Amino acid sequence: MDVLAGLPEATILRDFESLEPFLRDESHVRGVPPLAVVKPHGPKALRELVRRAKAEGFGLVPRGAGTGKAGGCVPTERTVIVDFSEWPGDLRVSPQDLCLSAPASAPLREVKAAAEAEGLFYPPDPNSWESCALGGTLATNAGGPNACKYGMTRHWVLSVDALLEDGELHTFGIHSVKANAGPSLGQLLIGSEGIFGFIVGATLRLTPLPREFATLLLPVKRWEDLLDLPGRLCGAGFLPSAFEFFDPAVLAELRAHGPEAARRLPGEALAILEFDDRGCTSEAFLEGLLDLLGPVADGLEIASDARQRQGIWAVRRMTSAFLKERHPGKVSEDIVVPRSRLREFFEGLDRLDFPSISYGHLGDGNLHVNLLAAGETEPARLERQLMDLFRLSISLGGALSGEHGIGLAKRDAFLALSDPGQIAALRAIKQALDSCGIFNPGKVI
Ligand SMILES: Cc1cc2nc3c(=O)[nH]c(=O)nc-3n(C[C@H](O)[C@H](O)[C@H](O)COP(=O)(O)OP(=O)(O)OC[C@H]3O[C@@H](n4cnc5c(N)ncnc54)[C@H](O)[C@@H]3O)c2cc1C
Repeated sequence: MDVLAGLPEATILRDFESLEPFLRDESHVRGVPPLAVVKPHGPKALRELVRRAKAEGFGLVPRGAGTGKAGGCVPTERTVIVDFSEWPGDLRVSPQDLCLSAPASAPLREVKAAAEAEGLFYPPDPNSWESCALGGTLATNAGGPNACKYGMTRHWVLSVDALLEDGELHTFGIHSVKANAGPSLGQLLIGSEGIFGFIVGATLRLTPLPREFATLLLPVKRWEDLLDLPGRLCGAGFLPSAFEFFDPAVLAELRAHGPEAARRLPGEALAILEFDDRGCTSEAFLEGLLDLLGPVADGLEIASDARQRQGIWAVRRMTSAFLKERHPGKVSEDIVVPRSRLREFFEGLDRLDFPSISYGHLGDGNLHVNLLAAGETEPARLERQLMDLFRLSISLGGALSGEHGIGLAKRDAFLALSDPGQIAALRAIKQALDSCGIFNPGKVI
């Protein structure tokens, strides 16, 4: 029986070749062939999908641009992928309300550009910002380098438009920074990875666009010298808008095999530090910063213009894809620890029984620990290594994911390592919002 026959307002893909790209995202996880891929063009399609999924017992897997790194949008048994790329809607900026409304299908780069065109700023900047969709960033609560100053996606969402199990569209929240009429269901949907329903759009909070940037390359001779810096800077009132790093192994790979711009990168290890406060390029600000950094700042380079700044960021943004191309079997994790525990984390990592290399968001303690030999490691051994890594992060007051989420990739670890009370509460909420279990089955919990 064709469970999608006559589905209104939708493009439907069913042939093997069209379905193939939807079996994966940017994680190491692979899905099973879905029943079909549906690209809805309006609420009628979603309403009907929800009705048929409940009646016929199949699951609905929401998908944005498929750049996720946790296997959240890959199909599980007997599911239909609901791809939001053709969902309609316009981007609308309201400078008076300092907000922007957009459909889930909007590319994040267009959301950021629409804000900028009005002199406004939407800070969330996952390094995939040129390729991911707004809906995916809402569902994963994405956060990139700017998170160390501006927080993650959830801090910038005023209201969420969603279609839930009742098949109806609802708006949770209002277009104002102040709203306190009961617990926020909108915030519950942010970071829910598609397990509670479909997010079809949102209204986002904006702030005036920063106009002044101090972008610094900070090479160090002993890489451990970087580890106390995020805490020291924040403790002294310097809050970078980004603080990224490459450990010695990642830097060596970039220098040896990366693009031209990466081959000249200095140091044993390297940090990219950026400030965007008004006055951050003034002598007084930079002198204060240098005083605080002390001898660590010996090789400091400051980007002198926008082109140099873009060059530095281009290298940072290509690092994930570059490492994946060089080590296709690697597993990349995204654990997080409080910035004051970074040194303890790396001491603990040294004691663990496996080689790894790291880069990422040092400023907020969110570290991409890469196990390059994962592809050649016996699966049970790899699982033990990952569990040791997660336990180490959690023991230092951190978490097993700082930004990518749980999806399929970290589900078992999440269930094993979380407070049982938290899992029970999440399951109770899931049962209340999705009693038939149709939304993204098998993910997260
Ligand atoms: C090179 C690279 C760099 C990256 N850097 C970062 C980074 O710095 N920070 C970061 O946070 N992430 C990063 N990511 C991961 C990823 O890009 C983000 O998680 C992004 O938000 C996913 O968006 P997407 O549109 O591709 O979502 P998908 O991958 O399509 O989906 C992700 C999850 O959201 C759900 N979902 C998607 N759309 C909807 C919807 N409309 N309604 C309900 N649920 C939905 C899916 O079911 C899935 O669980 C990176 C990925 C790559 C490849």
